[in-house]
Amino acid sequence: MLNKNLKQDLEQIDSILKESGISRRDAFKMMGLGGAGLMLGGTEATAATTLKASDAKGKIVIVGGGLAGVATAAKLSNSLSNPDITVIEPNPNSVSYQPGNTLVASGIWTLDNITYETQDFMPSGVKWIKDKAIEFNPTANELKTAGGETIKYDYLVIAAGLVNDFGMIKGLEEVGEVYTLDKNDAAKAKKIIGQNGVGSIYFSEGAADTWTQMQKFVADAKAGKKVTGVFPEPHTPFKCGGAQKKVVNLTNARLEEAGARANADLQFLTNGKKLFGVPEYHTAIEDQMKARNVNVRYEHKFTAIDLTNKVAKFEKHWEVKGAWDADLEEFEMVTKTEAVDVKYDFCHIIPPQKAPTEIAKSPLGSEKGWVPVKNDTLQHVVYPNVFALGDIAAVPLGKTGGSARKQYSVVCQNLISLMEGKEMTAKYEGYTVCPLITNIGTVMLAEFKWKDVAAASGAVAAPSFPLDPTQERWLYWLLKVYLLKPMTMYGMLPGRA
Ligand SMILES: Cc1cc2nc3c(=O)[nH]c(=O)nc-3n(C[C@H](O)[C@H](O)[C@H](O)COP(=O)(O)OP(=O)(O)OC[C@H]3O[C@@H](n4cnc5c(N)ncnc54)[C@H](O)[C@@H]3O)c2cc1C
Repeated sequence: MLNKNLKQDLEQIDSILKESGISRRDAFKMMGLGGAGLMLGGTEATAATTLKASDAKGKIVIVGGGLAGVATAAKLSNSLSNPDITVIEPNPNSVSYQPGNTLVASGIWTLDNITYETQDFMPSGVKWIKDKAIEFNPTANELKTAGGETIKYDYLVIAAGLVNDFGMIKGLEEVGEVYTLDKNDAAKAKKIIGQNGVGSIYFSEGAADTWTQMQKFVADAKAGKKVTGVFPEPHTPFKCGGAQKKVVNLTNARLEEAGARANADLQFLTNGKKLFGVPEYHTAIEDQMKARNVNVRYEHKFTAIDLTNKVAKFEKHWEVKGAWDADLEEFEMVTKTEAVDVKYDFCHIIPPQKAPTEIAKSPLGSEKGWVPVKNDTLQHVVYPNVFALGDIAAVPLGKTGGSARKQYSVVCQNLISLMEGKEMTAKYEGYTVCPLITNIGTVMLAEFKWKDVAAASGAVAAPSFPLDPTQERWLYWLLKVYLLKPMTMYGMLPGRA
Protein backbone atom coordinates (compact mmCIF):
# COMPACT_ATOMS: atom_id res chain seq x y z
CA MET A 1 0.00 0.00 0.00
CA LEU A 2 2.85 2.36 0.91
CA ASN A 3 4.65 1.57 -2.34
CA LYS A 4 1.48 2.31 -4.24
CA ASN A 5 1.21 5.68 -2.46
CA LEU A 6 4.83 6.46 -3.25
CA LYS A 7 4.32 5.55 -6.88
CA GLN A 8 1.27 7.82 -7.07
CA ASP A 9 3.05 10.70 -5.35
CA LEU A 10 6.11 10.36 -7.56
CA GLU A 11 3.96 10.22 -10.70
CA GLN A 12 2.10 13.31 -9.57
CA ILE A 13 5.34 15.09 -8.70
CA ASP A 14 6.86 14.08 -12.06
CA SER A 15 3.92 15.45 -13.99
CA ILE A 16 3.90 18.72 -12.04
CA LEU A 17 7.67 19.10 -12.35
CA LYS A 18 7.60 18.31 -16.06
CA GLU A 19 5.35 21.32 -16.57
CA SER A 20 7.88 23.48 -14.68
CA GLY A 21 10.83 22.00 -16.60
CA ILE A 22 12.47 20.53 -13.45
CA SER A 23 13.65 16.92 -13.18
CA ARG A 24 12.76 14.82 -10.16
CA ARG A 25 16.47 14.59 -9.33
CA ASP A 26 16.76 18.38 -9.24
CA ALA A 27 13.61 18.63 -7.18
CA PHE A 28 15.03 16.27 -4.55
CA LYS A 29 18.21 18.31 -4.58
CA MET A 30 16.07 21.36 -3.92
CA MET A 31 14.41 19.54 -1.04
CA GLY A 32 17.74 18.47 0.34
CA LEU A 33 19.19 21.93 0.06
CA GLY A 34 16.50 23.90 1.78
CA GLY A 35 16.62 20.88 3.59
CA ALA A 36 14.56 20.17 5.64
CA GLY A 37 14.18 23.37 4.05
CA LEU A 38 10.70 22.17 4.02
CA MET A 39 10.31 21.73 7.73
CA LEU A 40 13.09 23.99 8.63
CA GLY A 41 12.09 26.92 6.60
CA GLY A 42 11.78 27.09 2.86
CA THR A 43 13.98 26.29 -0.06
CA GLU A 44 16.01 29.44 -0.41
CA ALA A 45 19.60 29.41 0.75
CA THR A 46 19.75 31.52 3.89
CA ALA A 47 23.49 31.21 4.48
CA ALA A 48 23.75 34.91 3.72
CA THR A 49 26.16 35.55 6.55
CA THR A 50 29.39 34.71 4.74
CA LEU A 51 32.21 32.80 6.42
CA LYS A 52 34.23 35.04 8.81
CA ALA A 53 33.17 38.05 6.73
CA SER A 54 32.60 40.46 9.59
CA ASP A 55 35.27 42.06 11.82
CA ALA A 56 32.59 43.38 14.19
CA LYS A 57 33.53 43.08 17.87
CA GLY A 58 31.61 42.68 21.11
CA LYS A 59 30.81 40.15 23.79
CA ILE A 60 27.73 38.13 22.86
CA VAL A 61 25.93 36.09 25.52
CA ILE A 62 23.27 33.56 24.52
CA VAL A 63 20.86 32.34 27.22
CA GLY A 64 19.66 28.84 26.32
CA GLY A 65 21.66 26.36 24.29
CA GLY A 66 18.87 24.33 22.75
CA LEU A 67 18.06 24.26 19.05
CA ALA A 68 17.84 28.04 18.50
CA GLY A 69 20.68 28.99 20.88
CA VAL A 70 23.29 26.57 19.53
CA ALA A 71 22.38 27.29 15.89
CA THR A 72 22.76 31.03 16.61
CA ALA A 73 26.11 30.51 18.36
CA ALA A 74 27.33 28.43 15.41
CA LYS A 75 26.27 30.87 12.72
CA LEU A 76 27.75 33.84 14.59
CA SER A 77 31.00 31.89 15.09
CA ASN A 78 31.09 31.13 11.38
CA SER A 79 30.38 34.74 10.41
CA LEU A 80 32.65 36.75 12.74
CA SER A 81 36.42 36.92 12.33
CA ASN A 82 36.93 37.40 16.11
CA PRO A 83 33.89 35.91 17.82
CA ASP A 84 33.44 36.33 21.59
CA ILE A 85 30.44 34.14 22.34
CA THR A 86 29.22 32.62 25.60
CA VAL A 87 26.31 30.17 25.83
CA ILE A 88 24.57 29.63 29.18
CA GLU A 89 22.83 26.25 29.21
CA PRO A 90 22.42 23.83 32.14
CA ASN A 91 21.31 20.71 30.23
CA PRO A 92 23.97 18.31 28.81
CA ASN A 93 21.38 16.96 26.33
CA SER A 94 19.81 20.28 25.34
CA VAL A 95 20.06 19.62 21.60
CA SER A 96 18.25 16.27 21.63
CA TYR A 97 15.75 16.02 18.80
CA GLN A 98 12.33 16.97 20.24
CA PRO A 99 10.27 16.49 17.03
CA GLY A 100 11.20 12.78 17.25
CA ASN A 101 9.13 12.38 20.43
CA THR A 102 6.02 11.70 18.33
CA LEU A 103 7.76 8.82 16.60
CA VAL A 104 9.01 7.43 19.92
CA ALA A 105 5.46 7.59 21.31
CA SER A 106 4.19 5.43 18.46
CA GLY A 107 6.95 2.80 18.53
CA ILE A 108 8.62 3.92 15.30
CA TRP A 109 11.78 5.23 16.98
CA THR A 110 13.33 4.70 20.43
CA LEU A 111 14.88 7.25 22.79
CA ASP A 112 18.34 6.36 21.42
CA ASN A 113 17.28 7.78 18.06
CA ILE A 114 16.67 11.25 19.49
CA THR A 115 19.17 11.68 22.32
CA TYR A 116 22.25 13.80 21.63
CA GLU A 117 25.05 15.29 23.73
CA THR A 118 25.26 19.09 23.70
CA GLN A 119 29.08 18.99 23.89
CA ASP A 120 29.17 17.37 20.43
CA PHE A 121 27.32 20.35 18.94
CA MET A 122 28.74 23.31 20.87
CA PRO A 123 30.84 25.23 18.29
CA SER A 124 34.56 25.34 19.01
CA GLY A 125 35.69 28.63 20.52
CA VAL A 126 32.32 29.22 22.17
CA LYS A 127 32.44 29.41 25.97
CA TRP A 128 29.78 27.16 27.49
CA ILE A 129 28.63 27.97 31.05
CA LYS A 130 26.77 24.89 32.31
CA ASP A 131 24.35 26.82 34.49
CA LYS A 132 21.09 28.70 34.44
CA ALA A 133 20.72 32.47 34.09
CA ILE A 134 18.44 33.56 36.91
CA GLU A 135 18.64 37.36 37.21
CA PHE A 136 18.71 39.96 34.47
CA ASN A 137 19.74 43.59 34.65
CA PRO A 138 19.51 44.80 31.07
CA THR A 139 20.18 48.46 31.93
CA ALA A 140 23.60 47.44 33.31
CA ASN A 141 24.07 44.82 30.54
CA GLU A 142 24.60 42.02 33.00
CA LEU A 143 23.00 38.87 34.31
CA LYS A 144 23.57 36.42 37.16
CA THR A 145 23.74 32.66 37.06
CA ALA A 146 22.33 30.25 39.63
CA GLY A 147 25.95 29.57 40.67
CA GLY A 148 26.32 33.26 41.62
CA GLU A 149 28.48 34.40 38.69
CA THR A 150 27.81 37.89 37.29
CA ILE A 151 28.22 38.00 33.53
CA LYS A 152 28.57 41.21 31.54
CA TYR A 153 27.69 41.43 27.87
CA ASP A 154 27.54 43.85 24.98
CA TYR A 155 24.82 41.88 23.18
CA LEU A 156 22.35 39.39 24.61
CA VAL A 157 20.36 36.70 22.78
CA ILE A 158 17.52 35.01 24.65
CA ALA A 159 16.80 31.49 23.37
CA ALA A 160 15.58 29.83 26.56
CA GLY A 161 12.60 28.01 25.04
CA LEU A 162 9.57 27.31 27.18
CA VAL A 163 8.56 25.22 30.13
CA ASN A 164 5.70 22.71 30.36
CA ASP A 165 3.44 23.58 33.27
CA PHE A 166 1.53 20.39 34.09
CA GLY A 167 0.64 22.02 37.42
CA MET A 168 -1.88 24.29 35.67
CA ILE A 169 -4.07 21.18 35.25
CA LYS A 170 -5.83 20.30 38.51
CA GLY A 171 -4.78 16.82 39.53
CA LEU A 172 -1.25 17.25 38.15
CA GLU A 173 0.02 19.88 40.61
CA GLU A 174 2.59 17.42 41.91
CA VAL A 175 4.13 17.11 38.45
CA GLY A 176 4.52 20.90 38.23
CA GLU A 177 6.98 22.41 35.76
CA VAL A 178 8.88 20.13 33.39
CA TYR A 179 11.45 21.03 30.73
CA THR A 180 11.11 18.78 27.70
CA LEU A 181 14.69 17.48 27.83
CA ASP A 182 15.52 17.69 31.55
CA LYS A 183 16.23 14.23 32.98
CA ASN A 184 15.55 15.28 36.61
CA ASP A 185 12.20 16.75 35.66
CA ALA A 186 11.43 13.58 33.71
CA ALA A 187 12.15 11.39 36.75
CA LYS A 188 9.66 13.46 38.77
CA ALA A 189 7.00 13.51 36.02
CA LYS A 190 7.32 9.77 35.32
CA LYS A 191 6.00 8.97 38.79
CA ILE A 192 2.58 10.21 37.65
CA ILE A 193 2.56 10.44 33.86
CA GLY A 194 3.27 7.37 31.77
CA GLN A 195 1.13 4.95 33.73
CA ASN A 196 -2.55 4.13 34.31
CA GLY A 197 -3.47 5.16 30.82
CA VAL A 198 -1.89 8.64 30.87
CA GLY A 199 0.94 9.72 28.56
CA SER A 200 2.70 12.87 27.37
CA ILE A 201 5.22 13.35 24.60
CA TYR A 202 6.22 16.74 26.04
CA PHE A 203 9.16 15.17 27.88
CA SER A 204 11.26 12.58 26.14
CA GLU A 205 10.95 9.75 28.63
CA GLY A 206 7.25 10.53 28.71
CA ALA A 207 7.21 9.80 24.98
CA ALA A 208 8.68 6.33 25.59
CA ASP A 209 6.08 5.67 28.31
CA THR A 210 3.32 6.96 26.03
CA TRP A 211 4.18 4.12 23.66
CA THR A 212 3.71 1.61 26.51
CA GLN A 213 0.34 3.15 27.38
CA MET A 214 -0.75 3.27 23.75
CA GLN A 215 0.11 -0.41 23.32
CA LYS A 216 -2.00 -1.32 26.39
CA PHE A 217 -4.89 0.69 24.99
CA VAL A 218 -4.65 -1.07 21.64
CA ALA A 219 -4.33 -4.49 23.34
CA ASP A 220 -7.49 -3.85 25.38
CA ALA A 221 -9.39 -2.86 22.23
CA LYS A 222 -8.06 -5.95 20.47
CA ALA A 223 -9.23 -8.11 23.37
CA GLY A 224 -12.76 -6.83 22.74
CA LYS A 225 -13.02 -4.12 25.40
CA LYS A 226 -14.83 -0.92 24.37
CA VAL A 227 -12.26 1.81 25.08
CA THR A 228 -12.06 5.59 24.90
CA GLY A 229 -8.98 7.63 23.99
CA VAL A 230 -8.99 11.32 24.97
CA PHE A 231 -6.71 13.84 23.25
CA PRO A 232 -7.06 17.39 24.64
CA GLU A 233 -5.16 20.46 23.45
CA PRO A 234 -4.09 23.01 26.10
CA HIS A 235 -5.53 26.53 26.35
CA THR A 236 -2.09 28.23 26.20
CA PRO A 237 0.21 28.60 23.17
CA PHE A 238 2.24 25.39 22.79
CA LYS A 239 5.19 24.22 20.74
CA CYS A 240 4.37 22.12 17.72
CA GLY A 241 0.72 23.06 17.32
CA GLY A 242 0.05 19.84 15.38
CA ALA A 243 1.31 17.46 18.08
CA GLN A 244 -2.06 16.29 19.43
CA LYS A 245 -3.35 15.68 15.90
CA LYS A 246 -0.29 13.55 15.21
CA VAL A 247 -0.82 11.51 18.39
CA VAL A 248 -4.51 10.86 17.70
CA ASN A 249 -3.67 9.84 14.11
CA LEU A 250 -0.88 7.51 15.24
CA THR A 251 -3.15 5.93 17.87
CA ASN A 252 -5.74 5.43 15.15
CA ALA A 253 -3.08 3.83 12.91
CA ARG A 254 -1.96 1.40 15.63
CA LEU A 255 -5.60 0.44 16.35
CA GLU A 256 -6.26 -0.19 12.66
CA GLU A 257 -3.10 -2.22 12.34
CA ALA A 258 -4.32 -4.41 15.23
CA GLY A 259 -7.77 -4.77 13.64
CA ALA A 260 -9.21 -3.16 16.78
CA ARG A 261 -10.37 0.27 15.59
CA ALA A 262 -14.08 -0.54 15.91
CA ASN A 263 -13.74 -0.96 19.68
CA ALA A 264 -12.21 2.47 20.30
CA ASP A 265 -13.85 5.86 20.62
CA LEU A 266 -11.22 8.55 19.88
CA GLN A 267 -12.05 12.03 21.14
CA PHE A 268 -10.07 15.14 20.20
CA LEU A 269 -10.92 18.19 22.31
CA THR A 270 -9.67 21.70 21.64
CA ASN A 271 -10.15 24.99 23.45
CA GLY A 272 -10.51 26.86 20.16
CA LYS A 273 -13.15 26.99 17.43
CA LYS A 274 -10.88 25.64 14.70
CA LEU A 275 -8.31 22.92 14.08
CA PHE A 276 -5.88 25.26 12.31
CA GLY A 277 -5.53 29.00 11.63
CA VAL A 278 -5.18 28.56 7.85
CA PRO A 279 -8.68 27.83 6.48
CA GLU A 280 -7.60 25.22 3.90
CA TYR A 281 -5.54 23.33 6.48
CA HIS A 282 -8.46 23.47 8.93
CA THR A 283 -10.78 21.95 6.33
CA ALA A 284 -8.25 19.29 5.32
CA ILE A 285 -7.66 18.24 8.94
CA GLU A 286 -11.36 18.21 9.74
CA ASP A 287 -11.89 15.92 6.74
CA GLN A 288 -9.03 13.67 7.87
CA MET A 289 -10.54 13.40 11.35
CA LYS A 290 -13.97 12.63 9.88
CA ALA A 291 -12.51 9.96 7.61
CA ARG A 292 -10.84 8.34 10.64
CA ASN A 293 -13.98 8.62 12.75
CA VAL A 294 -12.32 10.85 15.35
CA ASN A 295 -14.86 12.77 17.41
CA VAL A 296 -13.77 16.45 17.37
CA ARG A 297 -15.14 18.71 20.13
CA TYR A 298 -14.46 22.45 19.94
CA GLU A 299 -14.45 25.06 22.75
CA HIS A 300 -13.50 22.59 25.49
CA LYS A 301 -10.88 23.91 27.91
CA PHE A 302 -8.95 21.09 29.58
CA THR A 303 -8.90 22.03 33.27
CA ALA A 304 -8.43 18.94 35.42
CA ILE A 305 -7.85 15.21 35.51
CA ASP A 306 -9.00 12.62 38.02
CA LEU A 307 -6.24 10.03 37.76
CA THR A 308 -7.91 7.57 40.14
CA ASN A 309 -11.22 7.38 38.28
CA LYS A 310 -9.71 8.07 34.87
CA VAL A 311 -11.79 11.15 34.08
CA ALA A 312 -10.59 14.14 32.03
CA LYS A 313 -12.41 17.35 32.99
CA PHE A 314 -13.26 20.21 30.67
CA GLU A 315 -14.97 23.56 30.77
CA LYS A 316 -17.14 23.80 27.69
CA HIS A 317 -17.61 27.44 26.69
CA TRP A 318 -19.66 29.30 24.14
CA GLU A 319 -20.98 32.79 23.55
CA VAL A 320 -24.58 33.96 23.46
CA LYS A 321 -26.12 37.32 22.70
CA GLY A 322 -26.69 39.38 25.86
CA ALA A 323 -28.25 42.80 26.32
CA TRP A 324 -28.36 45.41 23.55
CA ASP A 325 -25.65 48.07 24.02
CA ALA A 326 -27.21 51.31 22.83
CA ASP A 327 -23.86 53.18 22.76
CA LEU A 328 -22.05 50.59 20.68
CA GLU A 329 -25.22 49.66 18.81
CA GLU A 330 -24.57 45.96 19.16
CA PHE A 331 -25.43 43.06 21.42
CA GLU A 332 -23.07 42.36 24.28
CA MET A 333 -21.63 38.84 24.00
CA VAL A 334 -21.88 36.73 27.13
CA THR A 335 -19.74 33.63 27.70
CA LYS A 336 -21.56 30.58 29.03
CA THR A 337 -19.79 27.59 30.51
CA GLU A 338 -20.62 24.03 31.46
CA ALA A 339 -18.53 21.32 33.14
CA VAL A 340 -17.93 18.26 30.93
CA ASP A 341 -16.39 15.00 32.18
CA VAL A 342 -14.96 12.46 29.75
CA LYS A 343 -13.99 9.01 31.00
CA TYR A 344 -10.83 7.68 29.38
CA ASP A 345 -8.84 4.50 29.05
CA PHE A 346 -5.97 6.39 27.41
CA CYS A 347 -5.40 10.14 27.72
CA HIS A 348 -2.56 11.94 25.97
CA ILE A 349 -1.74 15.21 27.72
CA ILE A 350 -0.20 18.29 26.16
CA PRO A 351 0.54 20.51 29.15
CA PRO A 352 -0.09 24.26 29.23
CA GLN A 353 3.18 26.04 28.41
CA LYS A 354 4.86 29.29 29.41
CA ALA A 355 8.17 31.15 29.33
CA PRO A 356 10.64 30.19 32.10
CA THR A 357 9.68 32.27 35.16
CA GLU A 358 13.13 33.81 35.75
CA ILE A 359 12.89 35.44 32.31
CA ALA A 360 9.14 36.02 32.18
CA LYS A 361 9.24 38.02 35.41
CA SER A 362 12.48 39.87 34.62
CA PRO A 363 12.65 43.28 32.89
CA LEU A 364 13.14 41.31 29.64
CA GLY A 365 9.78 39.53 29.92
CA SER A 366 6.24 40.73 29.40
CA GLU A 367 2.88 40.46 31.10
CA LYS A 368 2.30 37.14 29.36
CA GLY A 369 5.89 36.10 29.98
CA TRP A 370 7.15 35.72 26.41
CA VAL A 371 10.03 38.04 25.47
CA PRO A 372 8.62 40.98 23.50
CA VAL A 373 10.52 41.59 20.25
CA LYS A 374 9.84 43.51 17.07
CA ASN A 375 8.11 40.92 14.90
CA ASP A 376 10.33 41.45 11.87
CA THR A 377 13.85 42.11 13.25
CA LEU A 378 13.46 40.07 16.47
CA GLN A 379 15.14 42.89 18.40
CA HIS A 380 13.81 43.46 21.94
CA VAL A 381 11.18 46.21 22.05
CA VAL A 382 12.92 48.04 24.92
CA TYR A 383 16.61 47.01 24.90
CA PRO A 384 18.19 47.39 21.44
CA ASN A 385 21.20 45.19 22.24
CA VAL A 386 18.92 42.25 23.12
CA PHE A 387 17.33 39.79 20.68
CA ALA A 388 15.06 36.80 21.29
CA LEU A 389 14.13 33.83 19.14
CA GLY A 390 12.67 30.36 19.28
CA ASP A 391 9.82 29.28 21.53
CA ILE A 392 10.33 32.11 24.05
CA ALA A 393 9.92 34.97 21.57
CA ALA A 394 6.56 36.78 21.70
CA VAL A 395 5.86 36.55 18.00
CA PRO A 396 2.52 35.36 16.61
CA LEU A 397 2.54 31.72 15.30
CA GLY A 398 6.02 30.21 15.65
CA LYS A 399 7.02 27.76 18.39
CA THR A 400 8.46 25.17 16.03
CA GLY A 401 11.98 24.20 15.02
CA GLY A 402 11.01 25.38 11.53
CA SER A 403 10.30 28.90 12.82
CA ALA A 404 13.54 28.89 14.84
CA ARG A 405 15.43 27.97 11.68
CA LYS A 406 14.14 31.08 9.91
CA GLN A 407 14.61 33.23 13.00
CA TYR A 408 18.22 32.37 13.80
CA SER A 409 19.33 33.53 10.40
CA VAL A 410 17.46 36.84 10.88
CA VAL A 411 18.90 37.35 14.39
CA CYS A 412 22.48 36.63 13.24
CA GLN A 413 22.26 38.99 10.28
CA ASN A 414 20.64 41.79 12.29
CA LEU A 415 22.95 41.40 15.27
CA ILE A 416 26.00 41.65 13.01
CA SER A 417 24.52 44.72 11.27
CA LEU A 418 23.92 46.31 14.68
CA MET A 419 27.49 45.54 15.77
CA GLU A 420 28.76 47.08 12.54
CA GLY A 421 26.61 50.18 13.01
CA LYS A 422 24.57 49.40 9.92
CA GLU A 423 20.82 49.27 9.35
CA MET A 424 19.17 45.96 10.21
CA THR A 425 17.61 44.59 7.03
CA ALA A 426 16.85 40.91 7.71
CA LYS A 427 13.16 40.29 8.39
CA TYR A 428 11.21 37.35 9.79
CA GLU A 429 7.88 36.76 8.04
CA GLY A 430 6.23 34.39 10.50
CA TYR A 431 7.17 31.15 8.75
CA THR A 432 6.04 28.06 10.66
CA VAL A 433 5.70 24.44 9.63
CA CYS A 434 3.88 21.41 10.91
CA PRO A 435 4.69 18.04 9.33
CA LEU A 436 1.32 16.63 10.37
CA ILE A 437 1.56 12.84 10.60
CA THR A 438 -1.80 11.56 9.40
CA ASN A 439 -0.98 7.83 9.36
CA ILE A 440 2.02 5.52 9.59
CA GLY A 441 3.29 6.29 6.10
CA THR A 442 1.69 9.67 5.35
CA VAL A 443 2.27 13.28 6.33
CA MET A 444 0.53 16.51 5.37
CA LEU A 445 3.18 19.22 5.25
CA ALA A 446 1.40 22.30 6.58
CA GLU A 447 3.72 25.26 5.96
CA PHE A 448 2.40 28.75 6.64
CA LYS A 449 3.34 32.31 7.53
CA TRP A 450 1.68 35.58 8.48
CA LYS A 451 -0.96 36.64 6.02
CA ASP A 452 -0.30 40.33 6.66
CA VAL A 453 3.47 40.40 7.16
CA ALA A 454 3.61 44.11 8.06
CA ALA A 455 1.05 43.63 10.85
CA ALA A 456 2.31 40.12 11.74
CA SER A 457 -1.28 38.90 11.71
CA GLY A 458 -3.37 36.13 10.20
CA ALA A 459 -1.98 32.96 8.66
CA VAL A 460 -1.68 31.85 5.07
CA ALA A 461 -0.36 28.66 3.46
CA ALA A 462 3.29 28.98 2.33
CA PRO A 463 4.24 25.72 0.60
CA SER A 464 7.91 25.28 -0.40
CA PHE A 465 7.14 22.62 -2.96
CA PRO A 466 4.84 22.84 -6.01
CA LEU A 467 2.33 20.32 -4.64
CA ASP A 468 -1.07 20.78 -3.04
CA PRO A 469 -0.09 21.21 0.66
CA THR A 470 -3.43 19.92 1.94
CA GLN A 471 -2.74 16.39 0.67
CA GLU A 472 -1.31 13.61 2.81
CA ARG A 473 1.78 12.18 1.11
CA TRP A 474 4.17 9.27 1.54
CA LEU A 475 6.91 11.52 0.20
CA TYR A 476 6.58 13.84 3.19
CA TRP A 477 6.61 10.82 5.50
CA LEU A 478 10.03 10.03 4.05
CA LEU A 479 11.01 13.62 4.72
CA LYS A 480 9.75 13.50 8.32
CA VAL A 481 11.25 10.13 9.22
CA TYR A 482 14.52 10.13 7.25
CA LEU A 483 15.50 13.67 6.26
CA LEU A 484 14.46 16.21 8.85
CA LYS A 485 16.55 14.91 11.74
CA PRO A 486 19.90 14.87 9.88
CA MET A 487 19.09 18.27 8.37
CA THR A 488 18.40 19.66 11.84
CA MET A 489 21.37 18.03 13.56
CA TYR A 490 23.94 18.51 10.80
CA GLY A 491 22.49 21.46 8.86
CA MET A 492 20.84 23.79 11.35
CA LEU A 493 22.75 23.18 14.59
CA PRO A 494 26.15 23.85 12.95
CA GLY A 495 24.63 27.10 11.59
CA ARG A 496 24.76 26.01 7.95
CA ALA A 497 21.12 25.71 6.92
C1 LIG B 1 6.66 16.66 21.15
C2 LIG B 1 7.25 17.73 20.30
C3 LIG B 1 7.12 17.66 18.92
C4 LIG B 1 7.66 18.65 18.11
N1 LIG B 1 7.54 18.53 16.75
C5 LIG B 1 8.08 19.46 15.97
C6 LIG B 1 8.03 19.33 14.55
O1 LIG B 1 7.51 18.34 14.02
N2 LIG B 1 8.57 20.31 13.79
C7 LIG B 1 9.18 21.39 14.35
O2 LIG B 1 9.67 22.25 13.61
N3 LIG B 1 9.24 21.56 15.69
C8 LIG B 1 8.71 20.62 16.51
N4 LIG B 1 8.80 20.76 17.87
C9 LIG B 1 9.22 22.06 18.45
C10 LIG B 1 10.72 22.29 18.50
O3 LIG B 1 11.38 21.22 19.13
C11 LIG B 1 10.95 23.58 19.28
O4 LIG B 1 10.17 24.60 18.71
C12 LIG B 1 12.40 23.98 19.27
O5 LIG B 1 13.16 23.06 20.02
C13 LIG B 1 12.57 25.39 19.87
O6 LIG B 1 13.91 25.69 20.03
P1 LIG B 1 14.35 26.64 21.25
O7 LIG B 1 15.82 26.73 21.16
O8 LIG B 1 13.53 27.85 21.29
O9 LIG B 1 13.97 25.81 22.57
P2 LIG B 1 14.68 24.50 23.13
O10 LIG B 1 15.25 23.71 22.01
O11 LIG B 1 13.68 23.83 24.01
O12 LIG B 1 15.89 25.07 23.99
C14 LIG B 1 15.73 25.97 25.07
C15 LIG B 1 16.90 25.78 26.03
O13 LIG B 1 16.95 26.85 26.97
C16 LIG B 1 17.43 26.34 28.20
N5 LIG B 1 17.05 27.27 29.27
C17 LIG B 1 15.82 27.50 29.76
N6 LIG B 1 15.87 28.43 30.73
C18 LIG B 1 17.16 28.81 30.83
C19 LIG B 1 17.85 29.74 31.66
N7 LIG B 1 17.21 30.49 32.56
N8 LIG B 1 19.20 29.86 31.54
C20 LIG B 1 19.88 29.11 30.60
N9 LIG B 1 19.27 28.21 29.79
C21 LIG B 1 17.92 28.07 29.91
C22 LIG B 1 16.78 24.98 28.31
O14 LIG B 1 17.54 24.13 29.16
C23 LIG B 1 16.78 24.50 26.86
O15 LIG B 1 17.88 23.66 26.59
C24 LIG B 1 8.32 19.75 18.71
C25 LIG B 1 8.48 19.80 20.11
C26 LIG B 1 7.95 18.80 20.90
C27 LIG B 1 8.13 18.85 22.39
